[in-house]
Amino acid sequence: MLRQASLFEKAPAVKISPDFRKRLSLLSQDSRFDLAGSCAKDPLGQGRKRGPLGRWLYPVVLPNGRRMTLFRTLLSNQCFSDCAYCPLRQERDFLRLSLRPEEIADAFMSLWRRKIVHGLFLSSAIFAHPDKVMEEFITVARILREKEGFGGYIHLKVVPGASEAAIETAAKFANALSLNVETSSPERLAQLSQAKKFEKIWQGMNQLKKLKERFLFSQTTQFIVGAAGETDAEIILQTERLYRQLKLNRVYFSAYQPGLGKQDLPGEFLARQNNFLLREHRLYQVDFLLRKYGFSAREIPLKNGFLPLEKDPKELWAESHPEFFPVNINKASYKELLRVPGIGPTIARRILEARKESYLKNISVLFPNKKLFQKALPYIVT
Ligand code: SF4
Repeated sequence: MLRQASLFEKAPAVKISPDFRKRLSLLSQDSRFDLAGSCAKDPLGQGRKRGPLGRWLYPVVLPNGRRMTLFRTLLSNQCFSDCAYCPLRQERDFLRLSLRPEEIADAFMSLWRRKIVHGLFLSSAIFAHPDKVMEEFITVARILREKEGFGGYIHLKVVPGASEAAIETAAKFANALSLNVETSSPERLAQLSQAKKFEKIWQGMNQLKKLKERFLFSQTTQFIVGAAGETDAEIILQTERLYRQLKLNRVYFSAYQPGLGKQDLPGEFLARQNNFLLREHRLYQVDFLLRKYGFSAREIPLKNGFLPLEKDPKELWAESHPEFFPVNINKASYKELLRVPGIGPTIARRILEARKESYLKNISVLFPNKKLFQKALPYIVT
């Protein structure tokens, strides 16, 4: 494991003052509340595991499936907003800090030249008018692109309430832009924030969708799961809408962490009683079913509006649809194969390829491990 203190020492081109190091450490740590990356490594919720390379380094899986290490920080943790679930909200009293765009650009280039990071993820609390915050994001991106000639990955947040002009300028520089939807409806958001407006966020996401036709970038968003007391059914329906209507590249889920927000939040009690990290993991499984397996939101098995936590939603669907099985692996279509527990897109494609060569009798060799094959076995025939 790399020690974070040693990272900049290895890159002597940039002098790192103790003051800058302190601010960067704290602001990178604060950026952990915004995932924009799957966090399914810890489905049993035994404690999140992020940033094994150091506080400001985050291994992520991008919407296109590529893995990379991002340099990740907030510009500032000073916030004029009031999101009830967020520990950075204005009413709280703690040390507020900021970084200058030039400092971030220098630090990033220093790490990038050493091949310690591959890209940048820049976010911020709302320390000024949304356009001012966007202007600082853009300044960092402009320095990297125009002064340093950096052609790699830059992910910028879009601040709710930013003007169309500011969003468009950011789109010219970024590989990915994210505007967080936060929750499932205007009513739910009103329970969490008076400052953020669901319609405005949706409007911004719509603009991003249109900009994608002119500029090449991925559009992502994130739900804070459970803070407003919303059900999984509400989140899943909204997720489907985001993919179908707004053509989002990825939707991320961040389980509300009890104790971080106001104690009277609708979801606070539920979050203390239930394993919200496992809930987050189940939502990621559903996200795969919607994006890659041809499922619709209405097909996802729920109990009282929530995903049963004890089992994978695809397995639950299979158990409740005996009429669909067994699937004949020599005749089934790609879509039918994807409905079989243990068979994902890779194995389904392997089956279709192998079928071209010969009649399949034993397909165990097409599975990467025995566990997946055992899962599929009760649902297939040759
Ligand atoms: S805008 Fe809301 S979520 Fe973002 S830092 Fe401020 S209080 Fe937190």
